[in-house]
Amino acid sequence: MKVIFLGPPGSGKGTQAKMVSERLGIPQVSTGDMLRSAVREGTPMGLKAKAMMDSGALVADEVVVGIVQERLAKADCEAGFILDGFPRTVPQADALQTCLQGLGKDLDAVISLKVDSDAVVERITGRRTCRDCGKLFHVRFDPPTQENVCDSCGGALYLRDDDQEATIRKRLEVYAEQTAPLIAYYQRADLVRTIDGMQGIAQVQDQILVAMGGN
Ligand code: AMP
Repeated sequence: MKVIFLGPPGSGKGTQAKMVSERLGIPQVSTGDMLRSAVREGTPMGLKAKAMMDSGALVADEVVVGIVQERLAKADCEAGFILDGFPRTVPQADALQTCLQGLGKDLDAVISLKVDSDAVVERITGRRTCRDCGKLFHVRFDPPTQENVCDSCGGALYLRDDDQEATIRKRLEVYAEQTAPLIAYYQRADLVRTIDGMQGIAQVQDQILVAMGGN
């Protein structure tokens, strides 16, 4: 199964992609996670990306396209993958098409998560991420057992720099301008399956699995 999870920041795509990835045994390919790990490691690409990420802007297309091309060519993507946070612009979607053609693959579906923008701000400002394993929590909706400590690995939880309210508003604007047009782009290929992302996590997951043609 080769799918894209599309939705504004805070729509739950990272949470859902992780769960579906574990359930179906196909990798979650998250450009946000890959960029954050490059920032943590202080690679030249990470250093360049950090300023853009902190301001809520997008990292240059050629940078993200390069990391996705490399990732999709790996053996664990052979049976399928979930693209989470990529593509985010029409040129990225075009580049993905070319890359998949080169690998002899086709997309099966684009899962579009719909949410309301005010709810998104609350969801994101309450979000906490584990510094060590990347697991996500939410102070209200999915709190860790011990405050600021990851239930899975004991790592410290933090609020991402780009999850501050002013940056979220900017990211929502960027989404509306640059990423939302991808819904029409993939509708032309009849790939879009729209899911109401305002429902509970389990319900959204069930509907995604149905839309992906499984379970
Ligand atoms: P995310 O974790 O998907 O919310 O991504 C966090 C930030 O990483 C975004 O606000 C962008 O600055 C950058 N980023 C992630 N994916 C992409 C992408 N496909 N294109 C450009 N920038 C990206």
